Amino acid sequence: MTDCGCEKARKALEEYLHNELCTEEASDIRDHMANCVDCADEHHVGVVLTDVIARSCAETAPADLRNQVMSQLRDIQAHS
Ligand SMILES: [Zn+2]
Repeated sequence: MTDCGCEKARKALEEYLHNELCTEEASDIRDHMANCVDCADEHHVGVVLTDVIARSCAETAPADLRNQVMSQLRDIQAHS
């Protein structure tokens, strides 16, 4: 991981996913993810998890669910 604003991006990611950031902050995160594969991946996982959670009405995602999604994403990326 490089010191390119990842720490700030990760902290804001949760709020970004829930559309709780102001326009300026949200565009900062988008800019960062455009240049940072790690954070873009993290965001992708968050989007999938948010979707899964919304559909299952669960309050939190268990760790194994998160790992499952992560490995599925890696699989998708490895074959695209
Ligand atoms: Zn980053």
